[in-house]
Amino acid sequence: MTAPTAAVRDRVRTLRPEDLPAYCYDLTALRNHAGHVRASLPGRVELYYAAKANPEPEVLAALRPYVHGYEVSSGGELTHVRKAVPGLPLAFGGPGKTPAELAGALASGVERFHVESVHELHMLAALAVRHAPGRRVAVLPRFNLPVSGGALDGGALTMGGRPAPFGIDPEQADETVRLLTDGTYPHLELRGVHAHLASGLEAPAQLAVAGSIVTWATGLAARHRIPLPEVVVGGGMAVDYTAPERRFDWTAYGTGLARLTAAHPELTLRIEPGRALTAYCGWYVTEVLDVKRSHGAEFAVVRGGTHHLRTPATKGHDQPCTVLPADGPWPHPWPRPAAVGDRVTLTGQLCTPKDLLARGVAAAGLRAGDRVAFGMAGAYAWNISHHDFLMHPRPGFHFLGAPEGG
Ligand SMILES: *Cc1c(COP(=O)(O)O)cnc(C)c1O
Repeated sequence: MTAPTAAVRDRVRTLRPEDLPAYCYDLTALRNHAGHVRASLPGRVELYYAAKANPEPEVLAALRPYVHGYEVSSGGELTHVRKAVPGLPLAFGGPGKTPAELAGALASGVERFHVESVHELHMLAALAVRHAPGRRVAVLPRFNLPVSGGALDGGALTMGGRPAPFGIDPEQADETVRLLTDGTYPHLELRGVHAHLASGLEAPAQLAVAGSIVTWATGLAARHRIPLPEVVVGGGMAVDYTAPERRFDWTAYGTGLARLTAAHPELTLRIEPGRALTAYCGWYVTEVLDVKRSHGAEFAVVRGGTHHLRTPATKGHDQPCTVLPADGPWPHPWPRPAAVGDRVTLTGQLCTPKDLLARGVAAAGLRAGDRVAFGMAGAYAWNISHHDFLMHPRPGFHFLGAPEGG
């Protein structure tokens, strides 16, 4: 569902127009969802949260009891996540890691490195001598593997098996393994392999991808007669903005992963979802400023816009939303603007036709002063938005419910 939870509605009722727009996160809903995800996973499957989806410290902390660790993709995220949730293991991934980022990560004792190229491997090895003396550093090279043909349905965004700046080409897999096992870099430990090949996959397609990664990884291990105890099969679990009530089938996914681990008792698998963990816990709530007709169509202009909630602009969808009517007296002597038709396009305050939050919303009678809660705004929302464009005030932030326990 994308209707705001009772906690979010209660908070919105207390907010004045000038307190809007506001991001409201329901941490209790987040904990319940994360608890379900975790409970669906069998033993020997670890859950890391990809922090880039939403790195708010309150969100990271709320997830803490349900995850085994966090995946970070920059030196900035690394420092931030360490501070927000100290003590949990981190995996450092992402293309184009700088020498300074690698040195900082080594010095801070990051538990695992997802290495994105052979050059990065050499650099990590050279830096480890100085910045992690006397330690063996765990490395999981990221490979850009072909995604098995039948595994993908239409909506998925494929990153694997095609030209991409991500990961190491399978052609270089043998060279990579040799560097890590022939004594060249004894202070690096080849712990396993990493892949993150697609996003937007439903459970059956995710399982097919995971199966093909494991098959490839066990083949590599056998060819080199080495153990590869850990296989990361990535994130990218589907979030359907057009059908919010249809969530990724974690139960089916967990059941399939259990079959996979049973067939490979030597392996620990790891998944690293971002969007599918946090998308549902956030609402961007705002107020209708104006309603107008334009050449036969109706528009409602709300406080804020896609500079706060860029998700619909980047994904090209209509952000699901709920109208919260404001029934108080209209304070002005002129008529209250109201929609006369039953379809309204919701836009923000930006002076660009791209500032579309949701088109053709069934919102008959929508009036200035009514409030709108945009759902599924808990991932890739505020933190991917171009906040400073047009210099509107920033939204408020409200973290509702207990972050941990009770
Ligand atoms: C972004 C990313 C993820 C998370 O992807 P979602 O689609 O948010 O689940 C996982 N792993 C890597 C390497 C990523 O870059």
